[in-house]
Amino acid sequence: MKAPNVLKFWKQRGYSPKLLMVLSAMPNFLYDLLLYLLGTDERFQVIVVFRHFFYKNYVGLSLWPFIILKEDSLKDDAVLINHERIHLKQQRELLILPFYLLYVSEWLLRTILYMDSYRAYQNISFEREAYANEADMQYLSKRKIFGFLNYLMR
Ligand SMILES: [Zn+2]
Repeated sequence: MKAPNVLKFWKQRGYSPKLLMVLSAMPNFLYDLLLYLLGTDERFQVIVVFRHFFYKNYVGLSLWPFIILKEDSLKDDAVLINHERIHLKQQRELLILPFYLLYVSEWLLRTILYMDSYRAYQNISFEREAYANEADMQYLSKRKIFGFLNYLMR
């Protein structure tokens, strides 16, 4: 995507004029990188099936750029795929590794808070965002950067 389109993309998402000015001073390859990290384009999404990988009732997992599924048939489960795509988006915008650190830290904290590891998992902000929006197939195209923050407190 060329620079003017990128600016339009950011403008449509309501980012501040100051930020747009900084963006307009950047070279094109940085635009491309930012657009990939923060945009909605899922060009590196790879779905793989790995039967002997899952604990209990879990059937899907995302480890950027992979969506790992327990069964081949799950590829047709649009809601599940959308859930995992939301996680890929969260991972990208946090530059991958910090996502896992935050995810595990929040899970540990909530496990102590609730004394219930499954309830803790369900309430991790990343999971709350994914569960709340997994049925909305347009969600990723309208989501703002760091959308999971809206689900941190509830
Ligand atoms: Zn999830």
